[in-house]
Parts: sequence; structure tokens; C-alpha cells
Amino acid sequence: MVYGYAGKILYVDLSTKEACTKDLDIDHVHPVIGGAGLGIKMLYEEVNPKIDSLSPENKLIFSVGPLVGSGAPCVSRMAVVAKSPLTGAVGMSLSGGFFPTELKFAGYDAVIVSGKSDKPAYIWIHDDNVTIGDASDLWGLTTTDTQLILKEKLNHPEAKIACIGPAGENLVRYACIINERRAAGRKGLGAVMGSKNLKAIAVKGTKKVKLAHEEKFRQALKKMHELMKQSPALYPSFSKLGTPMTVEVTVELGILPAKNWTATGIFAPIETLGGEAQSTYTVTRAGCYGCPVRCGQVKIVRNGPFAGFLTEGPEFESTYSLGTMVGVNYFPAVIAADRLCDEYGLDSISTGANIAFAMELLEKGVLSQEDVDGINLKFGNYEALVKMIRKIAFRDGFGNVLAEGVKRASEIIGRGSEKYALHIKGMELPGYDVRGAKAHGLSYATAYTGADHNRGYAIQEIFNVPVPYRVDRLAIEGKGKLCRWNQDVRTAVCDCMPLCVFVFDMGLATNALELMAELYEALTGLKMRTEDVQKAGERVNNIARLFNFRAGFTRADDKLPARLMEEAIPGGPSKGQMISREELNKMLDEYYEARGWDKEKGMPTKEKLSELALPIIP
Ligand code: SF4
Repeated sequence: MVYGYAGKILYVDLSTKEACTKDLDIDHVHPVIGGAGLGIKMLYEEVNPKIDSLSPENKLIFSVGPLVGSGAPCVSRMAVVAKSPLTGAVGMSLSGGFFPTELKFAGYDAVIVSGKSDKPAYIWIHDDNVTIGDASDLWGLTTTDTQLILKEKLNHPEAKIACIGPAGENLVRYACIINERRAAGRKGLGAVMGSKNLKAIAVKGTKKVKLAHEEKFRQALKKMHELMKQSPALYPSFSKLGTPMTVEVTVELGILPAKNWTATGIFAPIETLGGEAQSTYTVTRAGCYGCPVRCGQVKIVRNGPFAGFLTEGPEFESTYSLGTMVGVNYFPAVIAADRLCDEYGLDSISTGANIAFAMELLEKGVLSQEDVDGINLKFGNYEALVKMIRKIAFRDGFGNVLAEGVKRASEIIGRGSEKYALHIKGMELPGYDVRGAKAHGLSYATAYTGADHNRGYAIQEIFNVPVPYRVDRLAIEGKGKLCRWNQDVRTAVCDCMPLCVFVFDMGLATNALELMAELYEALTGLKMRTEDVQKAGERVNNIARLFNFRAGFTRADDKLPARLMEEAIPGGPSKGQMISREELNKMLDEYYEARGWDKEKGMPTKEKLSELALPIIP
């Protein structure tokens, strides 16, 4: 009898139109827990890191963790994993909503999609029945319409659907996957889905997760709810404002990037884009399956040029990318831009960052009005922002260049434009100016996904959380060790179990490792000590590093864009801060040391792999 896990992995080959299941090997999954751990392990074992990410050889893996569907709150999350078409490295994105729990209820820990369909297709998973259907009539539809029409077509209004929009179909390298209004946003996993001619996956499940020790699990859950109630932030403010409350936090620290990172601390329109200001547009709240926090803020524009636009969001990151990054302080335009990104299936962070890149190129005279199809792409022009989003999704005109992401776009444009293309390993930067939060910056530089705020979020620097200890956000010393801790703990707790990051950050960081060990043991009946949880996260980060090394990444790729190392933050509370090359190198040396990796290559040593019981030789 399997407890906690569903016990099955579903394999779907779109080339042959065949589906089959295999029993989950508990000894295989236990050392990496599940979720992102299982997904990345399978990617490492089943996908050649040298392949073209958009070829049929890539595999798209949807993986849920053991806590999903268990009755624990705030755990309806899945990892979507593939080789990323944006970075060429491991692509892993997490998404919440209802789809992850439905997949577990259908009886699967993971779904692996391989091959390529000869025409648009959808996969319909109804418990043990799996069929591949014709999605020709859905091709070209936005994500909301796809979900509505596919439910009707299946005659299952309660089915949950993960799908792509036109951006995924058009292989925009940062297309996302949308389920309900939640996104597996970054790294272009929607383009991988599009490359397989897979428009959607629909799922309906009726099974239950079996608990090994019900009473112990109930006691652990009671503790979890108590800790969440005691949090000074989770219910009092996060529930009411959602992630946009981070606008105020980052403005206070002077690290909200603006205008392609040229105006941090100068352009910080908190009065229109701050969490409090945004809340005046909120009409209702929404949440993922089984979450009492319900942080989703549904906002509507009631008048002006964008009247009628409604979105669940924009989250903090979209407020940055579609607001301050492009110099826009008119909030209704940010709502509209956010909704358009969701409907076309575009990652809002990369979309805004690409448009900001083009805006700076125009400002600096590298591009002319003619080069950008006559659009007046100047910072602050929200009409141009909205026009460009559509052009990117449909690869129309200059949109076709930006659809490649800033790294490739700068290679196409030439003329010294790479100086203004801010990315790490090919992925555009999220909304924290890490020149004023150094461990956070080190995490951007070293994360296996490229610039990613979620892989090793430095809660100590951004929210002053004293776990595992209090730090000076501007110091360099000690940040290597801290970054390793943030990456490993967050990977295990938030990516593998998986617990919602926001609940971890705002309520459970202090007790997360103990609590996760307790929940896991009671749920699965398998031994898990507190230190084993962190070890699992470390193992996953090592496996991802091995994949990337085989794909061609080395220490030389663990870097920051030149602007962050050469130009200081121009204004505000973090004015004058930057991370010089020497400082980055110092942090990297300390980081590799803390990881037990070879400092020259930035690679796990044989001793480290053997300590982690990874039977893999680089
Ligand atoms: S806190 Fe928000 S993102 Fe997290 S599980 Fe709840 S509703 Fe979903």
C-alpha cells in the first residue's frame, strides 16, 4: 500500500498517441520528496541536455508533491519541468490553483508528455481513462476561451485545465502555461507545450490520498494552522493585499527596479502602484484549492480607456514588469497588460522586461521608430505597451524579435544592444534590484533556472526575517552560505513538498523544516528527519546543476548583467549600491565552498555526489 503519494506516473507519447502508467518507485522519489524534485530527477534521467528544447525529444513533466490533496492547506501546487527554450538549462516553474490537486485526485504523482502530435491535440485525464483528442478547433484561442470551450466539449464543467494561448502556439520563448488564472509562468514552458502541438491538458479525479497515520497528521496540521494564525503578516495583511504589498517593501528598501534598471529609487510611484492603492480596484478575492489565505486579488477597471478589464492580480512581479520597468504609473493600464499576458499565455515578467529593453534601445538611439513598426515605444507610454504585448504573442513585425527574449533579440539587433539586454542564463530579471540585496543577487546568479526570485529568495534581506539568522542586506560576507541555505530549504519545502512560498515566507519559515518532516512522516509512513528535508533540497539543486553542466553551463554562466556590476543604483534608499565583479566572485567562491563544489567549474565534486547518495558521475 502506498501512502501520501498517488503511486502512479502517467506517460503520454503524442507521436504515437499512446498513454501508459508505471508504478511510482518510492525508493526513487523519497530522496527528492516529489514535485520539482521528482520532475528534475526524471528530466535528468530521460532527456539529453544537448537537445533542442523545442524538438519532440524534449519532455514536459507535470509533477505534484506528496502533500498535494492530503488535506493540508496551501499545498495545491505543481512543478512543470522541461529543458527551457529560453535558457537551455533546466526549466522549472511552479503553479497553484486547482489543477494540481485534481491531478493527484486522478491518481498521478506526475505526467510526462513526450513526442509531438501531428495536429493540435489535448489530453483528457479522467481518473484511469486517458485519451488524446483533436484540439484543432481550440488552436488560436486565448487561455480563458480554451478552458471554457474544452470543458463544454468534454461535457465536464468541473474539469480543471492547463493550457497555452497564442504565445505558446507561436513558440514565444517565454510563453507560459495557464490553469484557471494561475500560471506556470517563467522559462518558456508554454512554448515547449506548443512545440508538441499540445493545446491543453484537462483533468478530473475522484480518488483520495491515503494517510499512513491519520491522527499524527491531524495533530501536525493543527500546529500548522496555529502557526499561520500567529503570523503578523499572513492573515492581517497578505490576505487583504496579496503580493502587491511587496511594492511598499521594495520602495522602502530602494530596490524596486524601474525603466530597464536605470531608474531604481527614482521612479517609484507607490501612490498609484502600491499595494494599498491597488486594493481600491479589488472586487473580490480568490485562492488555490484548500487555501484559507486566499491571496488572489481580483481587480477591475471601471472607467477610462481600459474600462471593463478584469484580472486576478497583477501580482507584485507584474506590477514591476508591466509598471515600473516600462515606466508606467497608470494602474488601469497595468491591469489590462496583465490580463492580456494571461490571455495570450505570456510570462508577464519577461514580456515587460523585453518591452523595457526595446524602450531603452529607442531612448539611446540604437533602434529607430521605423525598426519598431512605428510604435512610439518610450518609457511610460502604456498604449505602446499594450500594442507590443499583442505583437509579441503573435510574433508580428518587431514582436517577432522580442519573442526571442532579450538575449537572442540583442544578438539579432546587434549595434551594441547586448549592453541593455538584462538577463542571466538568458532569462530576464525579476523585480528586486539585487544591487541592494546581495544574497538575493547571488541567488539570481547561481539558480539553475537563470534569474529567478523564487529559487533562493532572501527573506532575510527583503522582509528582515531572522531565519536562520538576521543579516545586513548590503554585506557581501556570509552570503554564499546564506544563499545555499535559502536555495536548499526553499527547494525542499516550497518546490518539492510543496508548500506555497508565501505561506513559508510569512508564517512558517521558522518551523518549516520540522513541520514538513512531521507532516511527511505522518502522511507517508516513511522516515524523514528535519535534516533529511534540507538534504532533499540540496540533492535536487545538485541534480539540476549536473543537467546544466551537461548542457554546457559552467561557473562562467553564474554571473550578473554588466549594468548591475558597473552602474550603481541611481537614487533612493539604496543609492550608490552595486555588486562589483570582485564582490560577485568573492560571494561565488564562498557559495561553491558551502556547497562542496569545485570552485573552478562550479560543479558538484564526486565526494559531494557520494555524500548525497547520487549515483551519478559528472
Ligand atoms: S497563499 Fe495565495 S498563492 Fe498561496 S496557496 Fe493560498 S491562494 Fe494560492
